[in-house]
Amino acid sequence: MTTLPLPALHLLDLRHYSYEILGSRFLVLEGSRGCPYTCTFCSRVIQGKPLRQKSVEQLGLEVETAVRKFGVRSIYFIDLEFTALPIWSAGCANFCLPIRSAFAGAARPGPTRSTSRSCG
Ligand code: SF4
Repeated sequence: MTTLPLPALHLLDLRHYSYEILGSRFLVLEGSRGCPYTCTFCSRVIQGKPLRQKSVEQLGLEVETAVRKFGVRSIYFIDLEFTALPIWSAGCANFCLPIRSAFAGAARPGPTRSTSRSCG
């Protein structure tokens, strides 16, 4: 994922995008695909294994561009498991704070260090 270009936000009319919990001028971004866990009820087969992630710097640039150039006010990270690597998700959260962008994402409860555990 580290070779993907910036999202083509110039093709979207963000005035039409909103989400109940995050308000208007809302955007979906993805920082990773896949998940290292094996919950039997999960639809992760769509994205598959292994976990692939953008770099913190790459996702930071996407967030900064969305906020500063396109006026995005809130972001939902569509990643299956935003906290799979705590250091990575903490780094991503840190770049949302200085630019005052609200953000949300899905997280797996419980230990995140093992790659063989299931939450289902
Ligand atoms: S941790 Fe979440 S994304 Fe990963 S397999 Fe389990 S339910 Fe699916």
